[in-house]
Amino acid sequence: MNDAQRSDAELAKTIYNRYESTKNKMAHAAKKVGRDISQIQLIAASKVQNPESLRELIDAGHTVFGENRFQEGRAKIPLLPSLCVWHFIGGLQRNKVKDIVKLFEWIHSVDSQLLLDEVDKRAATIGKIQKILLEVNIADEASKHGASPYEVKNLVIHANQLANVEVNGLMTVAPFYDDLEEVRPFFKQLADLKKEVELETGSILPHLSMGMTHDFEIAIEEGATMVRVGTGLFGPRRAK
Ligand SMILES: *Cc1c(COP(=O)(O)O)cnc(C)c1O
Repeated sequence: MNDAQRSDAELAKTIYNRYESTKNKMAHAAKKVGRDISQIQLIAASKVQNPESLRELIDAGHTVFGENRFQEGRAKIPLLPSLCVWHFIGGLQRNKVKDIVKLFEWIHSVDSQLLLDEVDKRAATIGKIQKILLEVNIADEASKHGASPYEVKNLVIHANQLANVEVNGLMTVAPFYDDLEEVRPFFKQLADLKKEVELETGSILPHLSMGMTHDFEIAIEEGATMVRVGTGLFGPRRAK
């Protein structure tokens, strides 16, 4: 196949095909390292996808979605069945926390004490305990959100003092490499950091949210419990 044929073939696949193939790849990666696939959740990263595309996944039995922007979530979430579970995976702005806490069961992108305090305050107002992950900028890239690995321990200690925040683990967006073996050390570092912080704080952090379309199999091999897959399920994202 040449490149044009390959991209036509890619576009012709249905969301259902891609979903089945993603689940197979997840199972294969888990098996390779002796992990139980039931410990690994697929989050469909549904930014820029319309509700009809999400419904195709729901029809196939998938109900867990990740959105990046509050405005988009606010428009989409009410149109879809209430059994869906929504994860906020995009950059978190303080002035949006109030609304995000109302809409999303999970927030993956808390990366400062200021944001922890804001989430706690807004969750308290509506009587909710907000599940969060701390986003870590594992490769120290200027373009990425996330706390530095050195800050994570203190953030966990701080979060543990807040009544309306439940810190459930760590999240990262790894650097992109064509050679997947180059990304592996970053996933390993996040997994090691989780263990280290658990020992230092006595907290249990059950989740590691890491891995996207390009690298989720490696992330699973290194301990991911949540993978966030967008194009691998919905096909190439077209500019809006
Ligand atoms: C878009 C996005 C994803 C999914 O990316 P794909 O490469 O399309 O799988 C995962 N995580 C975050 C934070 C994203 O913004």
